[in-house]
Amino acid sequence: MKIWIFQGNPIRFDVDSYLLDNKEITWSMRQKYLVSDVQIGDEVFIWRSDGDEKGSGGIVARAKILSLPQVYVNDEDSSKYWYEDVKEPYLAIELVVLEVEVENPLKRLDLLQHELLHDLPILKIKNNTNYLLDEQLGEVLLEEWNRHIQLSQSNKSTVLSIPAASTIDIIERYEIHAFPNPRSYNFSNLVTFRKKGGAMRALYKVVDTFIMDVRKGVVESKIEQFSNDVQNRIRKYVYERSNDFGFERSEYQFWILQFEKSLPHEPRSIQTYSSHVYYMYEDLVSGEKNVGISSNQITNSEEDHIVNFDKVISEIEIAPIQETEKKQVIKSRIGQSSFKKVLLAREKKCKLCGVVDEAFLIASHIKPWSVSNNEERLDVNNGLLLCPNHDALFDKGFISFLENGETVVSDRLDMNTMQFMNVQSTMKVNLSEGQREYMKWHYVHIFNES
Ligand SMILES: [Zn+2]
Repeated sequence: MKIWIFQGNPIRFDVDSYLLDNKEITWSMRQKYLVSDVQIGDEVFIWRSDGDEKGSGGIVARAKILSLPQVYVNDEDSSKYWYEDVKEPYLAIELVVLEVEVENPLKRLDLLQHELLHDLPILKIKNNTNYLLDEQLGEVLLEEWNRHIQLSQSNKSTVLSIPAASTIDIIERYEIHAFPNPRSYNFSNLVTFRKKGGAMRALYKVVDTFIMDVRKGVVESKIEQFSNDVQNRIRKYVYERSNDFGFERSEYQFWILQFEKSLPHEPRSIQTYSSHVYYMYEDLVSGEKNVGISSNQITNSEEDHIVNFDKVISEIEIAPIQETEKKQVIKSRIGQSSFKKVLLAREKKCKLCGVVDEAFLIASHIKPWSVSNNEERLDVNNGLLLCPNHDALFDKGFISFLENGETVVSDRLDMNTMQFMNVQSTMKVNLSEGQREYMKWHYVHIFNES
């Protein structure tokens, strides 16, 4: 599979609408010397040039090639996207659009800063339509795009909603939110806070985060990186909170907020939630007073899971049994059932081999239960769904995964066993941002190279 960049000029035709309206598109093939390189199935990044808006240029979509280059004449459907009359037949390729992100492209200016991608041919020769990338650059670009689009799309659609009750005033006054670290929030670009009763009155962007031990007040070295305004807000927040309801633990994660949008209609859900939930951005700004939480199944079962976990823990903490026994009881009551349920909602099959039968899937902790703290034990990111073979290998440190998802296999595993157990070092898995952190730990502490 080859990777290409095809460029379009928004002055000549409406690149954005064309990509948003159509699943199948046609792109001209002007670099004749590349015609014989085109293969069906090749990947194409669609690049929208600056046009009138300087600095706006970059990749706005990813597509796949459906046809070899052929002579094409604009029909009515495609003509409406053109700002000029194109009557002549031209050589073109059909593509299927896989992902579109016209509002937040992977920008030329950012690619210029990238240690490898600044070598992209389109950054050197600006006016071609078709660029063929060499293999390494293509793969790096694909990775960079995946990261970009994941971040951009997850942040656009969901808003993290945090119950703040009586603390909402201090949060909104200083535009600072602090909570004990770690916590199982998924980081979200947009956040809102719920008053008592569940109403929300504003949306905030999270512009920066840092972790600080607050036992002795503000640690100046932790905040000196910020503007004077932000520093002052942090100081006042910590001062006021210390005098008010205080900090119940030592290490806190701070989110620096920036006012984004007020919600004068104060939307809320009919049901009240005691934990954080996610809403769809569109729902919150729709003007409707009653809004449902995001239908995202993962969120719901994660909520159940956390509530359930807290309940079991508190029951067992007060039970008249030995400390060591407590751990076992907690583990057996929570370890599999609800943790697995949550993981199944996410993954549905063995990460490595694709076994799908739930009866044969084991929900493993990446960082083992025995050395995890309570937060880590219930953190879904610390979970991995594996079949019994792969679970055993992972658990005993015969295999682990690198940050990019590549499988590493211990030298202790001979070729026969590897074949029998269906393991190859060429296997690759997708790890979420959260899983990567735990996986680093597994690689360092559990994986046994030789
Ligand atoms: Zn497996």
